[in-house]
Amino acid sequence: MPVQLSKIYDNLCDMADKAFGDAGDPCNKQKGFVCHDCCEGCKYLDESGCITNCLGCKLYICFTLQKEQPHLRAVLNGLRNIASRYNFVRMRTSGEEILKG
Ligand code: SF4
Ligand code: SF4
Repeated sequence: MPVQLSKIYDNLCDMADKAFGDAGDPCNKQKGFVCHDCCEGCKYLDESGCITNCLGCKLYICFTLQKEQPHLRAVLNGLRNIASRYNFVRMRTSGEEILKG
């Protein structure tokens, strides 16, 4: 795997996490559950929360949150545009799988 791609991936994940933190952690990410509703039934969800680093999930917010948090929506849209160029936007997929292409 090209090192540079994984760095870009990790940086985008960090920026998405920061955007959620700056917005007041509306999906309770800091407590381990990235999205309790959104993650239900996912194989990557355990008692401590999400066990992988899925950028597609990090960039997702539901319609309600999009309306409540327009700034967060704008930041995530910008990150999604970049991530799309690398085909990184897949949900319920591990970071390792996404980076395999
Ligand atoms: S994206 Fe919406 S539905 Fe999913 S956890 Fe956040 S607030 Fe809840
Ligand atoms: S991969 Fe996505 S849906 Fe699955 S637990 Fe992680 S954040 Fe939730």
